[in-house]
Amino acid sequence: MSCRASIDLHSHSTASDGALTPAALINKAVQAGIKTLALTDHDTVAGLKEAQAAAKNHDIKLINGIELSTRWDNKTIHIVGLNINPEHDIILAASQRLSALREARAIKIGEKLAKAGIDNAYIEAKKIAGDGTVTRQHFSQVIINNGRAKNQTDVFKRFLVKNKPGYVSVMWPGLDETIQCINTAGGIAVIAHPLRYKITATKLRKLITDFKACGGKAIEVVTGNNHKPDIELASSYAKQFAIAASVGSDFHNEQTAWGQLGKLANLPRDLT
Ligand code: AMP
Ligand code: MN
Ligand code: MN
Ligand code: MN
Repeated sequence: MSCRASIDLHSHSTASDGALTPAALINKAVQAGIKTLALTDHDTVAGLKEAQAAAKNHDIKLINGIELSTRWDNKTIHIVGLNINPEHDIILAASQRLSALREARAIKIGEKLAKAGIDNAYIEAKKIAGDGTVTRQHFSQVIINNGRAKNQTDVFKRFLVKNKPGYVSVMWPGLDETIQCINTAGGIAVIAHPLRYKITATKLRKLITDFKACGGKAIEVVTGNNHKPDIELASSYAKQFAIAASVGSDFHNEQTAWGQLGKLANLPRDLT
């Protein structure tokens, strides 16, 4: 593996829906041979202080990051902000607003799941999330614990998605506002896992066009799945739109087959 394999610019901790505390995540990344890691929790910077403190004890550079939920064409898109100032007012205001949206959605998800025969889902999901951002991932654990699905893939087919029990749409802040937030906080905006959205190629090109027009700078080319055709396709977008390429596992936990720290394919050499 080249030195590029030691870079991972997308990961989660218990500050959102990751299984490891920020300090444990740093330890795990060091063991996996990562030299540069970005912690990018969903809509929060709460894990960065602990992660930075832990990183000081090791030969690893931690990049302050965040993964912001945004709305584009009535769809939820994730924009990673890298190298942001986590103390900037605009980041704190954005995460406060997003946290309120998530809380309101979580209550509604709980009500909807109750109608589907899963009681107390809100309380249970909040328990699992602890101090972290409450996400659909926590609800998925509740559904599995209730014996209503066998794993996460199963949950996200039968629950919590459009036209299924437990789905609640959210009016996340718009794409322009999200990118402006990241840019104002001194960061670089990156389209997260571009091939995971259920949109056509035409729509994806439109998304990248709008993203760039709003001041977005990069797209994730190597994501956790390491699927060669996906890397080639995402590379072609990076080149076609003349934007930079990023590398991120989207690590959440050790149980998931994909998205493991230190197991990323190399970024094609001809990209920025
Ligand atoms: P949220 O941001 O609250 O809508 O939750 C999104 C999170 O749910 C993602 O970051 C993943 O952790 C998880 N998730 C979404 N879709 C899937 C899926 N198909 N399989 C596994 N986890 C998923
Ligand atoms: Mn997640
Ligand atoms: Mn994401
Ligand atoms: Mn992520």
